[in-house]
This record gives sequence, structure tokens and C-alpha cells, in this order.
Amino acid sequence: MGGKQYLLTPGPTPVPPQVLAALAEPILHHRSPDFTPVYESCLTRLREVFRTTQEVLLFAASGTGAFESAVQNLVVRGEPHLVVSAGNFGERWATLTRAYGADVDHLRYAWGETPDPDDVRARLRERDAKAVWLVHSETSTGVVADIEALAAVAKEAGALVVVDGVSSLGAVPCETDAWGLDVVVSGSQKALMTPPGLGMCAVSQAAYAGVGDTPRFYFDWERTRKAQSTLDAAFTPPVSLVAGLDVALGLLLDEGLDAVFERHVRLGRAARAGAKAMGLELFSPDEDRSAVVTAIRAPDGIDAGAVVKGLRDRHGITIAGGQGDLKGKIFRLGHIGFFDVFDITTALAAVELVLASLGADIERGVAVTAALEAYEHSSSAAA
Ligand code: PLP
Repeated sequence: MGGKQYLLTPGPTPVPPQVLAALAEPILHHRSPDFTPVYESCLTRLREVFRTTQEVLLFAASGTGAFESAVQNLVVRGEPHLVVSAGNFGERWATLTRAYGADVDHLRYAWGETPDPDDVRARLRERDAKAVWLVHSETSTGVVADIEALAAVAKEAGALVVVDGVSSLGAVPCETDAWGLDVVVSGSQKALMTPPGLGMCAVSQAAYAGVGDTPRFYFDWERTRKAQSTLDAAFTPPVSLVAGLDVALGLLLDEGLDAVFERHVRLGRAARAGAKAMGLELFSPDEDRSAVVTAIRAPDGIDAGAVVKGLRDRHGITIAGGQGDLKGKIFRLGHIGFFDVFDITTALAAVELVLASLGADIERGVAVTAALEAYEHSSSAAA
């Protein structure tokens, strides 16, 4: 028998058995009366999870694909845009918007920094922007930005706000309508507890009004919006994934979004407490908002890649390494979606074993207890 496998990355994430069961159902025809109620339920639940009254556009695409839909619809060659980056994904959006001809002002922080609304305000005073492109949870660093405050500054300046919510949506609060977020992009494979393959995009009326005369077809927002409004998909949707996502969203809503956010806060606290108890240094901020992924510096003289490899080869546990310049320097424990505290203690226990075998000078036998205590002692006023 192959050993048990644990998927403890910030995406793809483990999928609950109820969702796996839905994925195993016979294929429904997307224009049949069997599929329509599933489609309708999924689209309705998406609006609830995005906390918006607007149609959430669903694409057969990864998160990057859904993000590209925003670029295709909003970026007219030569128009000014402000992209804020502090890690891998923000930098991707700078590259992507430029690829479509945007005149990009790039407010670029070092990886691991937290974007500051005052900096955004100052940049927008220097130069107008049609849209400000933001990352909510920068998965490469573990930083969760204060999107509400950043969006408020962009709105003050009259810019549209486009948010990468790929690893944040369903893990930490993301109030699409209440915070005035014009576009929120996400993907199925992270806190939404569904396999990779669906990208989604909430679009405000102001964002539709800002759609330019640009070449596009599959990702044309209006085409998909119109089709979804009559439950007659513009193109063949991945019907099994839609059925799976519907079940996953139902699980989130049954738990209650506020309870889900609170669970993520507590998971983050547990991961950080365990790592610190072992004597490790956190790379991601030691704060409750950092509830998506915990990034940990490898101890001096230890290659973080060897930690990731050791967990996988010796214990069947997949965690994430560092990206870009952080490769070899940090490793990342994901805790979004179908996670409980024993996923955290499993990861910490294995990290301890592997680090010890690599000769790291760490405190043994304390991480799991510290994590469990941090999880237990969290108050419900946390979020
Ligand atoms: N944005 C963030 C914050 C992510 O974490 C990811 C995936 O890791 C992406 C964008 C890209 O999503 P995808 O890999 O689904 O294209």
C-alpha cells in the first residue's frame, strides 16, 4: 500500500469527502434540467461567499485566467494603471497588465512587506489610474493586506479596485460590496475546497462601465454575465467541478462565514505558535490577519528545499517551498479550506523530525503542544 499522503500547501488544498462524492457523480448535460438547479445554486452561493449582489462570473480557468479576464476587459492600450506588489503574485499582475499594453505605475514593495494605504494615496496623487490592482493574500509571503483600507484610498482617487482574492476568499473576510471592491478574482482550489479548474470574478457596475473596446471573446465579461443570468452557460462549463464547488460552498455557508474566518485565525495562530516554540523564525507577519499561509525561515545553514523534500519523501507530506528569491530560504505551511488543527500539528511534528535529521538546532517536543494551546485559547473575538 502506498503511504498516506497529506496535502498541506496553500493550494491546491485538500477536498472534503462530500465534494469528492459530488465529483464522482455521472456527468450532467450543461443545458439539461438536471444541471440547471446545480448551476443556479452554485452561482447563488458564490454571491454569498463573495458577499456581493452582483453576478459572480465563472470561468473554466485557473485563478490567473480569471485575472486575465479583468485585464482583457479593463486594460485599453496606453491607459494608466497602478499595480501594487509585495510578492510573486503582485509582480505577475504587473507583467500581465503590461502585456496587454497598460501604462503601468508599479508600486513595488520588497517581498514580505505589507502595502501601505498612504503610499498608494501618494502614488495616486502623482498620477491618475483607471484601476488599482491589489493582492489581498500574497501567498508567496503569507502577508494579508488591509484591502478595505487600500480600496478606500483608490476609491477616493476615483480609480477602480481590482483584487486578487485567489487565496483569501473563503479564508479571511473579503467584503466585495461593502468595501467597494470593483473586481474580486478567485479560484476553486484554495479556501473554496474544490479541485483546480474554476476561476471566478465578481464585477461591479462601475467595472462594467469601465470595460474598454479591447479584443476578447471567451473572457468577455458581458457575454458570460448575460448567459449566467438566464442559467444558459455561454460555453460548456466543467459540470463536475461546478457540482463539486456547489457542495463546497454549501459546507462553508453551513459552517457560517464568520465561523470559517475565526477557524482560519486560530489555525494561523497555532502554526505560528508551534514554529516559534521550536525556535524557528517566522517570515510571514506574526498577526491574526496572516491566516492563510505561515511562512517560516529555514534555520541558518539549512536549505528550505531540503525541508520540503524531507517532508514529502519521508512522511508523504506536501508543503510549499519559497518562490523567487525566497527559494531555499523559507518553507510555507498552508492552512486554508478543509483544514483543522491536527493538520497543523501533523505538519509541525514532521518539520521538527526533518529539521532534527538535517542537524538544525531546534527545541524538540514543544511545537505540537504550543500549537494546540494557541488553537484552544483563541477567543471568538479574534477576527
Ligand atoms: N494569486 C494568488 C494570491 C495565488 O496564490 C495564486 C496561486 O497560487 C494565483 C494568484 C494564481 O492562481 P492559479 O495558479 O490558479 O492561476
